[in-house]
Amino acid sequence: MTTSAHLLFELQQLEQDIAEKEEKLRQVQKALRGSRKLAKAQRDFEEAEVAYVQARQRQRELEDELSQVEAKIRQEEERLYNGSVRNPKELSAIQEEVNHLKERQNHLSNEVLQALEAAERAKQVRDEAATALRAAEADWQKRRAKLQKAEEKLTRYLAVMQKKVSQLRATINAADIERYEYLKARKGLPVVAPLQDEVCGLCGVAVSQQKIIAVQRGDLVQCGNCDRILVRATRNTSQHKRA
Ligand SMILES: [Zn+2]
Repeated sequence: MTTSAHLLFELQQLEQDIAEKEEKLRQVQKALRGSRKLAKAQRDFEEAEVAYVQARQRQRELEDELSQVEAKIRQEEERLYNGSVRNPKELSAIQEEVNHLKERQNHLSNEVLQALEAAERAKQVRDEAATALRAAEADWQKRRAKLQKAEEKLTRYLAVMQKKVSQLRATINAADIERYEYLKARKGLPVVAPLQDEVCGLCGVAVSQQKIIAVQRGDLVQCGNCDRILVRATRNTSQHKRA
């Protein structure tokens, strides 16, 4: 015999299942908003790219400066040896300037080498970051496809379950639904508890013989301790039905 309590119990199972699947759907939708791993790979790549561009820029600046110093050396040496300057004092001043420029040239040559090496290292870091980014993008594509499938499946499932709930609600009398909703608003699910060996299946407190008889008769009876609606235990009340 299907009693009112059994119908409410069935409604509760459907609603609990819906709540669980809605929570899963929320998690899937949250995950679909983006991948932290991918965002980090993007940031790493952007940083490495900036560092590489800066290193190349530094290298070029030093190379330009070195070229200018070398041009100046050629120019001064020309004046030194082409006979245009004859004054010994002036000649020795030019020689001093050339010596000074050659020191600068030496120093800059070292700096250019170091800058070149730094730029090569920066390029390697940038290339590795680009590879990691491509891998993270490929991973995310796969993960997103899975998540989208899960989202579609859950959405379809929920639509079916909502329909089942509406159909079931239509078969339950209004006063019973009202009592169920009232308890649900006060306590949250579950509000229907199976009777287990003359004890409330939810709070574990013994139920009076009078109430047990009323439950077996099919009346809507509430546990004297926790107020839950008591339902006669059947195979369906002890096993959770999962669609
Ligand atoms: Zn109880």
